[in-house]
Amino acid sequence: MKYDVDEQGFYGDFGGAFIPEMLHPNIQELKSSYRKILNDDAFKKELSSLLKDYVGRPTPLYFAKRLSEHYGANIYLKREDLCHTGAHKINNTLGQVLLAQRLNKSRIIAETGAGQHGVATATACALKGLECIVYMGAKDIERQAPNVSRMKMLGAEVRPVHSGSKTLKDATNEAIRDWINNQDDTHYIIGSVVGPDPYPDLVTQLQAIISEEIKNQMDGLPTHVVACVGGGSNAIGAFYHFLEDETVDLIGVEAGGLGVKTDKSAATLALGSRGVLHASMSYLMQTSDGQVIEPHSISAGLDYPGIGPLHAHLHDCKRVLYSNVTDQEALDAANRLMQLEGIIPALESSHALAYLEKMTFNSTDKIVINLSGRGDKDMSTYINAAT
Ligand SMILES: *Cc1c(COP(=O)(O)O)cnc(C)c1O
Repeated sequence: MKYDVDEQGFYGDFGGAFIPEMLHPNIQELKSSYRKILNDDAFKKELSSLLKDYVGRPTPLYFAKRLSEHYGANIYLKREDLCHTGAHKINNTLGQVLLAQRLNKSRIIAETGAGQHGVATATACALKGLECIVYMGAKDIERQAPNVSRMKMLGAEVRPVHSGSKTLKDATNEAIRDWINNQDDTHYIIGSVVGPDPYPDLVTQLQAIISEEIKNQMDGLPTHVVACVGGGSNAIGAFYHFLEDETVDLIGVEAGGLGVKTDKSAATLALGSRGVLHASMSYLMQTSDGQVIEPHSISAGLDYPGIGPLHAHLHDCKRVLYSNVTDQEALDAANRLMQLEGIIPALESSHALAYLEKMTFNSTDKIVINLSGRGDKDMSTYINAAT
């Protein structure tokens, strides 16, 4: 495929594996085997059976009648919110746990910021009886107490990280240190299309099921596919099988926070410049001397200062349009969906919904919005916003 990763692990100028020497054996082992394993018949059979009976796939492609009438176009929702655990993240963690078993790894590590990836990892590990250790910044542990409880109930060990800013990037450093020291029995599950090659492609292949299903569920091609972008895994999942259908407009919506003109935003492609973050070349929010800028978004899942390298490439070659909406626009879009369709969306997904306000439509347009997750985890934010 025209937009696939090359032999060196790059998408155009972006990607690669900017890693410490000590990590080369781990990355090399994964790189030399993951494509073969993903394409193995027995692997595919086990994964698709679990995706069907455990995750609940295929997720519906729902024609949102009242939302469509409101906007004067045909709007479809890809219901990733109906996946087990409430979001698309399980597509990736389940696939990587099965991959780890094929690589004879009995121990899984992950890092998590908001806790959603940690919960999805702990879930897949419980299902397969693998040891699960989740690194999490001490500050995030305080902020995300319900997800910490969920991970523990599912049998995972949550290891607090007290170094640095006590958030995601410090947890990532600890996870990498662990992986270097435990290469023989440990697989590291990264939660989005970020990190060193081959992770961006590995996660892309596991999330591409979203667009594969949309294609099967739809009569002909959509005119637009819209998805929110944190690291970019639900978006690339929704876009992947449409990348070569150049008539389909693909739109990634980043978190604008309080607005891209303020210093409280997470809109990486609007505000970022080229650089290396989490071991891959992409765009990131950084100061002129290369310090990473603390991002802000009302939605914890989009609160990330970088973006996956394939998105950086798709942005530069203009195959995908990247836009952004503010916290308030996302909240308004969430309320609209609640009242017009009876669906409480995740705050992340509400960013994709909010983009509808910025579009102009033909009545024949067929727009697919990827509803990446459900809003249970965001109740306190919704309640506070309403009062
Ligand atoms: C984590 C998360 C996101 C953001 O991650 P991507 O890798 O950009 O998809 C979006 N939506 C939901 C519901 C999430 O949990």
